[in-house]
Amino acid sequence: MVLKFLSPEPLHDPLAAPTPTQDTTVKCTTCYMCACRCGIRVHLAPGPDGPQVRYIDGNPEHPLNQGVICAKGSSGIMKQYSPARLTQPLLRKPGSERGAAEFEPISWERAYGLLTERLGKIRATDPKKFALFTGRDQMQALTGLFARQFGTPNYAAHGGFCSVNMAAGMIYTVGGSFWEFGGPDLERSKLFVMLGTAEDHHSNPMKIAISKFKRSGGRFISINPIRTGYSAIADEWIPIKPGTDGALLMALLHVLLRDDLIDHAFLKRFTNAPQLVVLDAGLREGLFAFDPDPAKGPPGDGRNPHNKLVFDKASGRILNAYPEGIADGCDPALEAPPEGHYTLDDGTRVTPAFQLLRDRAATCTPAWASALTGIPAARIEQLAHEMGHAALQQAFELPIAWTDAWGKEHPTTQARPLAFHAMRGLAAHSNGFQTVRALAVLMSVLGTIDAPGGFRHKAPYPRHIVPNYRAFNDPAMIQPNTPLNAAPLGFPAHPDELAIHPDGSPLRIDHAYSWEHPLSAHGMMHNVITNAVRGDPYRIDTLLMFMANMAWNSTMNTQGVREMLNRKDEAGEYLIPFLVVCDAFQSETVAFADLVLPDTTYLERHDVMGMLDRPISEFDGPVDSVRIPVVEPMGECRPFQEVLIELASRLKFPAFTTPEGERKFKGYADFVVNFQPQPGIGFLMGWRGANGDQHLRGEPNPKQWEAYEKNNCVFHYPLPENMQFMRNWNRPYLDFAKDKGWRQKNDPVQLAIYSDTLQSFRLAARGQTEGRQPPDHLRARIDTYFDPLPFWYPPLEEAATDLATYPLNAITQRPMAMYHSWDSQNAWLRQIHSHNYLHVNPQTARAAGIADGGWAWVESQWGQVRCMIRHSEAVEPGTVWTWNAIGKADGAWQLAPGADEARKGFLLNHLISEELPFNTASGTISNSDPITGQAGWYDVRVRIRPADPDEAQETYPQMATMPSVPGVLGKAVQVLTYFAGRKTP
Ligand code: SF4
Repeated sequence: MVLKFLSPEPLHDPLAAPTPTQDTTVKCTTCYMCACRCGIRVHLAPGPDGPQVRYIDGNPEHPLNQGVICAKGSSGIMKQYSPARLTQPLLRKPGSERGAAEFEPISWERAYGLLTERLGKIRATDPKKFALFTGRDQMQALTGLFARQFGTPNYAAHGGFCSVNMAAGMIYTVGGSFWEFGGPDLERSKLFVMLGTAEDHHSNPMKIAISKFKRSGGRFISINPIRTGYSAIADEWIPIKPGTDGALLMALLHVLLRDDLIDHAFLKRFTNAPQLVVLDAGLREGLFAFDPDPAKGPPGDGRNPHNKLVFDKASGRILNAYPEGIADGCDPALEAPPEGHYTLDDGTRVTPAFQLLRDRAATCTPAWASALTGIPAARIEQLAHEMGHAALQQAFELPIAWTDAWGKEHPTTQARPLAFHAMRGLAAHSNGFQTVRALAVLMSVLGTIDAPGGFRHKAPYPRHIVPNYRAFNDPAMIQPNTPLNAAPLGFPAHPDELAIHPDGSPLRIDHAYSWEHPLSAHGMMHNVITNAVRGDPYRIDTLLMFMANMAWNSTMNTQGVREMLNRKDEAGEYLIPFLVVCDAFQSETVAFADLVLPDTTYLERHDVMGMLDRPISEFDGPVDSVRIPVVEPMGECRPFQEVLIELASRLKFPAFTTPEGERKFKGYADFVVNFQPQPGIGFLMGWRGANGDQHLRGEPNPKQWEAYEKNNCVFHYPLPENMQFMRNWNRPYLDFAKDKGWRQKNDPVQLAIYSDTLQSFRLAARGQTEGRQPPDHLRARIDTYFDPLPFWYPPLEEAATDLATYPLNAITQRPMAMYHSWDSQNAWLRQIHSHNYLHVNPQTARAAGIADGGWAWVESQWGQVRCMIRHSEAVEPGTVWTWNAIGKADGAWQLAPGADEARKGFLLNHLISEELPFNTASGTISNSDPITGQAGWYDVRVRIRPADPDEAQETYPQMATMPSVPGVLGKAVQVLTYFAGRKTP
């Protein structure tokens, strides 16, 4: 064996076909150890109760990961057989308190009976008293449909506390975003700039792409307060102070505009940069001027972006922007004339939107940004020039002809080899939306949108700006036993689309889409419990949470929220009367449930990652994928999807019931095949039609699952080359996308350098509209933040903080080896991390008198934790950070009492408040972005001090040990042991 190690022969060829023995079989499905959705092969051997997982490797046939698997993916076996797995439905014992985890096992029939009766009563009286909030699930097309059919607007998934700023900031500007929606074309790029991205995001696909990019000579710059993960392998790490990326981006824009490093032709044809904005006070101040000819359509706004005007320098005339303004020989102005404005025939003063951007960027000098970001001004200047050089001087053309939306034939496709990627580091601040807007505008002025080497969309993106999905917003439509007339989530384009009552108060329990957070496109899960307990705007009856650890790492103000889950009224009734928790594991939140529904793992169920939700499309065309069960569910576990189908059938939701009142679908697999929101459009694109010979659109195919099983659980539809780029304006692509149901119209998607949507809210706040206006206490807030141009402002928490007392930014990252809190129960992965440290720059730690490895107190104005400190040069001196979700409540996740996760691990969430002081009726407002409601996770300020030597050497706060719940697998699996944290006797 030793000789074999020394041999040049590989020990194992990862690309070789598996060699099943007589006993083993191999089944393909899709990984869910993180959200990247790599293809995997699961190797199975016979066991006493059916096939058992032996090991998992990557599927070489899968287009996304091509056989690559990461440590998390191959550790899926330890998730499958985790001692923390729940196996039975559980009901809280009568007389026991929430949090005590005292349960009695019940049958599924009883669980369904309880839920059907309770939910049926709510639905028949006041459907909004049921709230469904889910964590990082991948089935929002089903959960959203369930809520809509129930008739409650109180639904959202995890996006509001994850990265909605990244999604909304980009979608409202360029029609797409990073992650599932689009990404950097590293195959053709020369310079790659990454901002605020932790290593777990986009894991395998991004790592494979960066590896190839660097091998082919690309330059990679990472801008991040912390040098871990991707930043550690970048050619250059630029440390930055948290929450100041917007200032950096505005300063980069300053240099690019000042030095004319912009793509003029792109801006004039494909963006709203030359379009004329009204300067005069009045109802249309700050909105785009439009052609008043009724034949040209209604006034331009977010949903009608037509008939706007430009000033043609060639003819000296004001013309319609399309098609006249882009005709050959026209030259739309990007700047105002010397007198400062153009004048319409009726005397209205107007100026190109780009002039307003110039004016805005003019004051955002590198010196100004340097003082905020900590990046030297000279480096900011140089960075802007590097970007301009890559996009403009290193540009090249691909020999791919394409036709734009106005019929112009382009003989080649212009490459702009400057790519960006950004994530929660930009998004999870209360200034994140405008920061992401600044990034999207910067990418646009350099012409990098859906260009080779730049940012590329993934189908079904780009969407319209604003997407044609209005969120449910009509209180009169909440009626007993009646589905809503719109989905609970969407994209408002105007104050008229807000989800508010006639008096302006919020319609939803989380206050999403209210004047407090108008564009909260993913809901605001982080405020549900606080608002529900306060009865703000009303009390609810039942809260169903799926895969959301709201009693621990998924919530801000963890201690407070745990207390609220237990809070009762004067009559001794819980303020949230019924709490249903669906999870596969014994999380901290399970202890607070009244009813526990045991979920399956990803190896035991059908799943869909499809075009109605979050597909896995590639730049070259749409891709969807599925999971197919490879083993039977453990114990009494049932997939949450099946539970929803069952409940929807028992409650007789119209979409789930035949006209005769019978159930329409046998289960989830049947639902996926046969449910069609539009004729020919279903959850899956591949192998449609009665014979399975149609793709993208076609009648249901009863053998669709079999077709996916035969094809590695994935369907990939490469588009012709002439439809792979410039899709915002690509005529064949726009027509094709409409025909396939990915978009409602085939209009082009002009980039919103200037957002008249934001301006429409600002006008309402200023009282300059005839329509809806915000309540007085929110007028100044909306006026300030709904700026049609990107700008930087300090995170809102700073205004409520004594910065001299709390001088440090404190942030978290998810570790590469774990995904959320799921993997602390994974016997292999917790050998890598069983506890976390607070990482502090040595200069900062020494100034505070804290040794490397020493115990210290970390205090914010909201709370304090005690933890261990690790000195690290890989963090800028004004920032401290830690891994998220490694610290655990004692006994949770079946970790042995006293395990490292509880004694040495800690949770920074104790230091973060879910609310900030504000002049609302409650005296508070969500600690979130004022535009989107994105949770401001990374805005908290702290101070550090050494713990006294005689203090207990364990983290604070400590929780009472959570007992094992009935049916939890526990020590039943003898092959597994929790090594890390085990104490020697
Ligand atoms: S990157 Fe994510 S999806 Fe891919 S193998 Fe790793 S854990 Fe699984």
